Amino acid sequence: MKLDTLESLLVKELKDLLSAEKQLVKALPKMAKGATSEPLRAAIEEHLEQTKGQVDRLEKVFGILGKAPRAEHCKAMEALIEEGAELLEEEGDPAVKDAALIAAAQKVEHYEISGYGTARTLAELLGLDKAVKLLRQTLDEEKETDENLTQLALSEINPQAEAAAAR
Ligand code: FE
Ligand code: FE
Ligand code: FE
Repeated sequence: MKLDTLESLLVKELKDLLSAEKQLVKALPKMAKGATSEPLRAAIEEHLEQTKGQVDRLEKVFGILGKAPRAEHCKAMEALIEEGAELLEEEGDPAVKDAALIAAAQKVEHYEISGYGTARTLAELLGLDKAVKLLRQTLDEEKETDENLTQLALSEINPQAEAAAAR
């Protein structure tokens, strides 16, 4: 695919994001199952539902651009998911493993925040107002998820993980 215009770059980014979101729809149920903390599990499950909506939004953005919603395999997301899955395989204290799960999940969210930030900015430059709105909605959800994970770590998971040393 030729990168000769900002629109072609936007389409490239959207294909990568579509692949990333579709991989997450498959991976998040396993991550949720791997969580010991009930609030952490609930947060991951809630984000799974948001993620399904994010796939729909991306498909709408492809429609606005008059392109078929074709994903292009995101190797980075594959690797981030793989790293998270490896952490879940390790032996250890449940609270420390939850802290590890949060770290892995936040890497995923930061990748998405970066991708959607770029896509939104490109859509702005191209004057695609409806696409900007859709991309911004998802970007806000990713940022909110990242913040929720930080709060969960600070309020609950990290203190429990700290106590693991005493167990
Ligand atoms: Fe997402
Ligand atoms: Fe990617
Ligand atoms: Fe996300």
